[in-house]
Amino acid sequence: MTEALSIRKKVGAALLAATLAFTTLGTAVSLPQQAFADDVATENPAPVKISSVKVNKAKFTYTGKVIKPKYTVKAADGTVVANKVAGSNGNVVIKPSKAIKKVGTYKVKVTGTGAYTGAKTVTVKVYPKKPSAKAPSATTSAVTAKWSKGTNDVSGYQIKCSKNKSMSGAKTVTAGKNATSKKISGLKASTRYYVQLRAYKVVDGKKYYSDWSAKKSVKTKAKAKKSSGGTVYITDTGEKYHRGTCRYLRYSKYAISKSEAQRQGYTACKVCRP
Ligand SMILES: [Zn+2]
Repeated sequence: MTEALSIRKKVGAALLAATLAFTTLGTAVSLPQQAFADDVATENPAPVKISSVKVNKAKFTYTGKVIKPKYTVKAADGTVVANKVAGSNGNVVIKPSKAIKKVGTYKVKVTGTGAYTGAKTVTVKVYPKKPSAKAPSATTSAVTAKWSKGTNDVSGYQIKCSKNKSMSGAKTVTAGKNATSKKISGLKASTRYYVQLRAYKVVDGKKYYSDWSAKKSVKTKAKAKKSSGGTVYITDTGEKYHRGTCRYLRYSKYAISKSEAQRQGYTACKVCRP
């Protein structure tokens, strides 16, 4: 108790004594009650305001289940009045605008009750889950990025493809929400490419991105070497190569490139002159 209050209490006691004295004398006396009102207030302190609400994570990820963030609520005097998921504990009521599950932004209202007063609103954000990248495939001029969808809440995917592991200078393409692969064309042959992707969801015109997947790499195929002189034909027994129409091909006929036939020791047929 403060010194001033203690003095007021003594004054109050003196006034009470005086009142009783007057009453005894049969005189109706009206005395101010101010001193007593102050004393009552010290026994039932005014509710303390809620000063801060913190959520345990800055970013939540879609799981397919209702997400239950943990809230730390502090009062103006610094005491922790709640350290819990949504609900009430006699000090506060924690109530999200709706069940926190799908990708988007949620408002959570924290209201003081009992010895606490005031209200604070905090924001909780849910993002798509990071897609799981699988080994890409390649042709001479294209790479096909592949991934598994899993349980997610997405509008589509963004895929990057780069010759550099740092993903600098990457080509970026998008794929629809049901896609599990995407072909990236116009690439160089015999070149290693890295691919990486992330999911996104559009909610109220705002894009919510997942984290980037792991990087996967693949080498595009080499361009087929042109066979010099095109295709010729050899037989089971002969040592010559022929044009497709040559009469020596009556019993057996196997296609081979002219360069390969020559490499294997075959020589040109003198009849069909391939
Ligand atoms: Zn021939």
